[in-house]
Amino acid sequence: MLSLQVEVNGNRVVVAGCADAGNIDATVTIFPGLGESWVRVAGDIFPAANPPADALWLQRAILQGDRVTITLVDSAEPTTPTLTRSDPSAEATDEIPFACSFCGKLSIEIEKMYAGLKAQVCNECVQFMHDMAVEDGVGSRGPPESTRET
Ligand SMILES: [Zn+2]
Repeated sequence: MLSLQVEVNGNRVVVAGCADAGNIDATVTIFPGLGESWVRVAGDIFPAANPPADALWLQRAILQGDRVTITLVDSAEPTTPTLTRSDPSAEATDEIPFACSFCGKLSIEIEKMYAGLKAQVCNECVQFMHDMAVEDGVGSRGPPESTRET
């Protein structure tokens, strides 16, 4: 099966392949302002008779001087990806869990998931965003005038 083999400093870290994959991307991203760099291998999976899912094979930090090598290979046994869905409207019959659209945590790892039309967010991200908004002085209006005590 056509797969992507990713090596960091000569050590094979993953062979990403999946018969149901629509695409598999290997990406190296740097965040100069944060001084961080990451290598990520992910893709879109189209399971039979179910909505699409997100596949993640690898996500790890890399350091300055690290050498990332991506090789197109034919693999009989590629690494099995972690599968999730973030679209709350997906009506799936398989066991692929939903994940927070912001942090990627699974619905079974957190207390509560809040769904919108196209995305969902976990209670931990809601709290984090609330804290940031308060810090920025946003969202501190309190209850509507009619319900305020005088
Ligand atoms: Zn989250």
